[in-house]
Amino acid sequence: MKNEFEIAVFEGDGIGPEIMAPTVQILNALQKRHQAYSLNFTYCDAGAMHFSKTGQSLPESSLETARKSDAILLSAMGMPDIRYEDGTEISPQIELRKELNLFAGVRPVTLYPGQNTPLKIPEGKTIDFVLIRESTEGLFWSQGKGEVSKDQASETLVITREVSEKLFKFSFKLAQQRKSSGEGRGVVTCVDKANVFRAFAFFREIFDEQAKAFPDIQKEYAYVDATALWMVQKPWDFDVLVTENMFGDILSDLGAGLMGGLGLAPSADIGLQHALFQPCHGSAPDIAGKGVANPFAMILSSAMMLEWLGHENNNSDLLKDGKNLKQAVGHVIQNKKGLTRDIGGEAGTKEAASAILKQLAD
Ligand code: ATP
Repeated sequence: MKNEFEIAVFEGDGIGPEIMAPTVQILNALQKRHQAYSLNFTYCDAGAMHFSKTGQSLPESSLETARKSDAILLSAMGMPDIRYEDGTEISPQIELRKELNLFAGVRPVTLYPGQNTPLKIPEGKTIDFVLIRESTEGLFWSQGKGEVSKDQASETLVITREVSEKLFKFSFKLAQQRKSSGEGRGVVTCVDKANVFRAFAFFREIFDEQAKAFPDIQKEYAYVDATALWMVQKPWDFDVLVTENMFGDILSDLGAGLMGGLGLAPSADIGLQHALFQPCHGSAPDIAGKGVANPFAMILSSAMMLEWLGHENNNSDLLKDGKNLKQAVGHVIQNKKGLTRDIGGEAGTKEAASAILKQLAD
């Protein structure tokens, strides 16, 4: 059983370093406690501030470190005032997704007891589903390739058999893991628009083909418009949702909305060889340097990393620590002590992280 892991760390811009520091501190406390595995952190330069100093947003050496690592932890990158010459924002996280073929964007939508949500949750129900957003093609394939003339503009949506097969296999396996750990019911829903577009009928066909290899998992279909409605009306019915890139982009923000905002929304971008873990929020330049940033989405992303490393390497200590870390965040939210301002508390970043460390020690 492999138990030594290289982790590439991208602290990024804005509040990035402020939320990464306590996250690494917590991971170090966990690995020290059991000494059952070791995580070796290598810090990598990248991002808007690095670009403004050197003219490079993602140096080759950082990409190489990411490529060689077992997992990548990334906080947030980009600053509104620092841009490439063509006016677009500095976003090495998107380059990493493309370079490392991170096709599965995993966005858990989880409501911990006591967590704020705009919904009224019926007695005995809770929200706990995972949205999987294909992250390398779909409508985003067209990024930078759109054609615009005086009278017409067009963008192209691309869905390939190769990526869709990997995506659905990944989704069914995740549903199996969730079912065996008691987190899910063993259902995967293909979210598309197969009633209108041939590309989505093709997407659904591949979904059906892949489903045959997972007879223990139930397959369902939903159109994307109905999914948006049901995410508000009955999100407790979902387990694993899998969808195209643009649909996933929109639905994942709706998911963050269900969780009361971005401060508690973790994410992962996973491929066959590499995986990157980062919070859904951006670099929040408006609060950078003030010590008030919420570190929980970053900490929850690192818990996803522990669980992913655990599954990939059949390492039960990592699996256990990933679960413990998620539960510790859940307890702190429930007790309402150590919450930052964005989620209704008064704590600063350090106090919030200390509350997690204390909970883990108890
Ligand atoms: P991006 O386009 O890079 O994702 P964004 O424009 O969506 O970024 P964010 O940087 O996510 O914007 O910030 C949106 C708002 O949420 C800001 O007011 C910011 O202060 C707040 N915010 C984001 N992350 C956090 C956090 N971890 N803690 C507290 N507030 C946050």
